[in-house]
Amino acid sequence: MIEFHWMGGKMTRVMKSKRAALRSRLAVILSVALPVCGGLRAQDKDFSKVEIKVTKVSGNIYMLEGEGGNIAASVGEDGIVIVDDQYAPLADKIQAALKNLKITDKPVRFVINTHYHGDHTGGNVPFASSGSTLIAQDNVRKRLESGGIAGNGSSLTMEVKPAPKGALPVITFDHDVTVHLNGEDIRALHFPAGHTDGDAIIFFPKNNVVHMGDDFVRYGFPFIDVSSGGSVQGMIAAMEKVSTQLPPDVKVIPGHGAISNLDDVRVFVKMLKETSAVVQKAIDQHKTVEQMKQEKILAPWAKWSGEFLDADKFIETLYNSLTGSKGEFMKHN
Ligand SMILES: [Zn+2]
Repeated sequence: MIEFHWMGGKMTRVMKSKRAALRSRLAVILSVALPVCGGLRAQDKDFSKVEIKVTKVSGNIYMLEGEGGNIAASVGEDGIVIVDDQYAPLADKIQAALKNLKITDKPVRFVINTHYHGDHTGGNVPFASSGSTLIAQDNVRKRLESGGIAGNGSSLTMEVKPAPKGALPVITFDHDVTVHLNGEDIRALHFPAGHTDGDAIIFFPKNNVVHMGDDFVRYGFPFIDVSSGGSVQGMIAAMEKVSTQLPPDVKVIPGHGAISNLDDVRVFVKMLKETSAVVQKAIDQHKTVEQMKQEKILAPWAKWSGEFLDADKFIETLYNSLTGSKGEFMKHN
């Protein structure tokens, strides 16, 4: 009934013949999955073997990769600010990796969530209980608190359980918030209705780094959570606005994938605009989603097709986004 594909390198390398079996097994496992942009729910994953890789991005900004969304960290004399926190079972390893930099003994004072999905907020409880203050856009708190449905409005659908109180951001903002730490004005800016309706992009202006959350990812066709107020139009608008305003040599941390630059963002936006135009044209010709799939209207963008979102699922996503036929947009506080 509910089908959900695990995005990521491990599964993209699975032999085609094994895919069907794996897929049906995952469908069962994930029938009540967390809203992850690329993952199994936390309790079904083996986190014991996950290692946290730390990469210096620029100045005192680091990127941490483990499982789930990329983490950005500002590490300096005032302490540590991180953007997103992956999954709860990884919190100790993340703390250890930050300590290992031997830059500061001060704690993670703030965690900023780029959006509410579980592979970006899963560590909220352990970080909050060890003293970090959680910050996010208003709708992140609302969606974490209420739970609901995440997905593309069609075949990609996941039930989201309400998060415990300890996972809820204590400080929320409507449009933007700035954290003044380590000599930098770290700014979280809300972009409406992109990947979700609670997205924030985080700017580190002194270090010339930006964390895009899942408005920009490197795993192929992006997951747009139409069921949680996301839209392709909003994602395009956010990326165009950001890429015209940032310095050309800014270092871009995507929600998932390797450190990127603005050219990578432009290629991504170009694909979003072209595929949207093709689907819009088919909508104008009164074609059904099934016809669009049969005619393989996204075939020219086949290289963007991944295990998490193939062309058919992206057609569904774009159709639902462009017709506004699915999803619910929450009004801010
Ligand atoms: Zn996400």
